[in-house]
Amino acid sequence: MIGQAGGVEERYELVGLDVEREIGITARFADGHVATFTVGELRLACPCATCRDLRDRGKTPWPLPNGPTTLAISDARFHGAWGVNFTWNDGHSTGIYPFETLRRWSEGDQRR
Ligand SMILES: [Zn+2]
Repeated sequence: MIGQAGGVEERYELVGLDVEREIGITARFADGHVATFTVGELRLACPCATCRDLRDRGKTPWPLPNGPTTLAISDARFHGAWGVNFTWNDGHSTGIYPFETLRRWSEGDQRR
């Protein structure tokens, strides 16, 4: 076949992101794949070093003591062309979620 369009990259190319602050996100990929995540799923799988360390020690990154009891996304910003950074209503904002990771999670890879 000549001129294969996209190929592997399309799987990890984000073409749309809907954020419902207290519910979750819907990510649309260039090859048509749609992935949805709840805010809880995203926060518990936060890829930042702090949250990774907590998980490695058998703790959960959320909820935090004295933090809000309802989780919500306060802000969402694209990070370069490859990821999205969420600021959470508990002030946590160091996690950058690569589109490739979101895609892999949606296809069943372990969330870590
Ligand atoms: Zn984190």
